[in-house]
Amino acid sequence: MLFRYSAAMHIYSRIAEMKESATLAVGARVAALKAQGVDVVGFAMGEPDFDTPENIKRAAIKALESGMTRYAPTAGDKPTREAIAKKLRDENGIQCRFEDVTITVGAKHSVYMALQAMIEPGRGDEVILPTPAWVSYRPLIELAGGVCVEVPGSIANGFRATPDQVAHAITPKTIAILLNSPSNPCGIVYPPTELRAIVDVIAPRPKIAIISDEIYEKLIYPEIAPGLAHWSPGSDARVADRTVTINGMSKAFAMTGWRIGYMCCPSANGHFMREIVKLQGQMTNSIASFFLPAIIEALSPATNPEVERMRLAFATRAKLTHRLLCAIPGFRDVQSTGAFYSFPNIGDLIGRTSPAGRILDSAQAFSEALLSEAHVAVVPGEDFGECARNHVRFSFACSEAQIEKGIARVDAFVRSLNPVAASCQAS
Ligand code: PMP
Ligand code: GLU
Repeated sequence: MLFRYSAAMHIYSRIAEMKESATLAVGARVAALKAQGVDVVGFAMGEPDFDTPENIKRAAIKALESGMTRYAPTAGDKPTREAIAKKLRDENGIQCRFEDVTITVGAKHSVYMALQAMIEPGRGDEVILPTPAWVSYRPLIELAGGVCVEVPGSIANGFRATPDQVAHAITPKTIAILLNSPSNPCGIVYPPTELRAIVDVIAPRPKIAIISDEIYEKLIYPEIAPGLAHWSPGSDARVADRTVTINGMSKAFAMTGWRIGYMCCPSANGHFMREIVKLQGQMTNSIASFFLPAIIEALSPATNPEVERMRLAFATRAKLTHRLLCAIPGFRDVQSTGAFYSFPNIGDLIGRTSPAGRILDSAQAFSEALLSEAHVAVVPGEDFGECARNHVRFSFACSEAQIEKGIARVDAFVRSLNPVAASCQAS
């Protein structure tokens, strides 16, 4: 018998009104088109095209074969949390112990839990979010009952929020700021001095926490911006005990499908992390136990050459993508210096009509026409923030050949657009 949901089944309004993830939605469309045999060039998914390094896979296989198949402690076992804490101390300067670390089902779940733990629904708690920002931040802030306060960036300021902008966004209701450097979708990296200047604004305000999503930490390109390096706000003693540092295995180690992230907060007496572990214990419990040794392996020096090989490939692709995008009429692009995204402005093309007669009145319309008519997938800017409306995101986590083929199609598509009808032109 076919079960049908009752029309009366109630769905919590915060979920019913929540937007679906635009990145995952476009990714699913690309997969469906490819399954139908359509030759789509996908610039949608923020996912390395590389395979997980062999030694990391072996560590998981060995653990599975040795019978590591039972529940692990909710936050992860001690050796793995120790390995992560050591990495955070040695590489990031974050003074933490293993008790300050929880391993989560992807960094996404770390973001979710941090926000759930901090936000009190109904109180108007505000979270400051420099935008353009990853599509999941706003929905997760709102799901937790918070208010998302955007600090808009633009091509003119290299998509980097200034300390003044952050200071102006602070109100008595501000409970946190969410930082993400290197940035999805902008592909920019805050130089450490600029990030420190933002932390200077937060430091004298003890009620404001910092959530620092550092998942693209290993993907920074000093080859493009000499001297550029990563800096973790959690290493600053003034804010260390109210900074939640989030990271994971997905991007640097090409492990998106493994679903492994982690969060660290050395709050005084471990209070914050104990509450997080309580929450996780009621949700997912631990990650798959036989993945834990793979984390230790990934964080060991043996994996470094593989990570470096992938980083160098992304640096080359970053340059290539920028060069090709800049040659498209109507595209304005900032050179990526981190992550694997370009986020060009296509505002000059808004209002034009595609060869098949679609009116490109938004980035969403542009992206839909591009996918239907030129078989190239990009993510429209709208869900990355108000200021991102006239942008589209290219993920260059694909081969140089794909980048050349796909951007050549975009170029041809743009050159075939009809001019804005005189009647539609702004007066
Ligand atoms: N943060 C950012 C900025 C991201 O782009 C992503 C996308 N994968 C995540 C967190 C979540 O990563 P995952 O859940 O795969 O660890
Ligand atoms: N974070 C990646 C992206 O932005 C993967 C998809 C997602 O979780 O959003 O494309």
